[in-house]
Amino acid sequence: KRKAVIAGNWKMNNTPTEAGLLLEALIPGVHDADCEVVVCVPFTDLCNVVAKCAGTNVHVGAQNVHFEKSGAFTGEVSADMLLDLGVEYVVIGHSERRQYFGETDETVNKRTLAALNAGLKPIVCVGESLTQREQGVTEELVRMQVKIALKDVTEEQVKNVIIAYEPIWAIGTGRTATSDQAQEVCAAIRKVVGELYGNDIAEGMTIQYGGSMNPANAAELLAKPDVDGGLIGGASLHAGKFCEIVDAAT
Ligand code: 13P
Repeated sequence: KRKAVIAGNWKMNNTPTEAGLLLEALIPGVHDADCEVVVCVPFTDLCNVVAKCAGTNVHVGAQNVHFEKSGAFTGEVSADMLLDLGVEYVVIGHSERRQYFGETDETVNKRTLAALNAGLKPIVCVGESLTQREQGVTEELVRMQVKIALKDVTEEQVKNVIIAYEPIWAIGTGRTATSDQAQEVCAAIRKVVGELYGNDIAEGMTIQYGGSMNPANAAELLAKPDVDGGLIGGASLHAGKFCEIVDAAT
């Protein structure tokens, strides 16, 4: 099985001071992890978090990136800025950005290309709403999201892409997808990646599940053959819970 990637998405939580405290509890708890451990933190935390994680096995990600290289884009942050800061990963197209900040499949694609061209590893989020699941269009929708996100991404570049399947109805609701539901969609994602890039690349790709993953359900979800890790929101804000999920992936 592929090496799991467990990534915390702190969302808009933790000041730089709070980030430091959380990491002091978290870093010793994951030092012997068998999986890749990532924390995706607010822009304002990145500097402190990169410094704290230097020399540890905790990797650092941002939660968004602008697609232009530089210029008159007040309030935005470029991929080169993140890379120069020591950031390795970036979450792209989280459903909260799609819902509240006008993110579309097209801008997800532009951000993915910008991240890859700069040398960042994108964690591209896809997933259906409850209505879409009830309409039976989950697979179709997720296939389309993946295809558009990866448009013009080369074979060499796609090896650095992680896809996170996050059903919107499972995010922050305590209502986790069943392990079978997570497996079904993660397998469908691997299938579409295979159609686009061939089986070897699809088999090598890390595909995460996200949505109310916690210490109680992580092991079952991560045991599924096509679930290669987790993108953890709420539980990543508690060092103890996050460490337990990391342990479940080992
Ligand atoms: P929760 O784990 O809080 O449901 O959030 C999942 C998520 O959105 C991670 O990106």
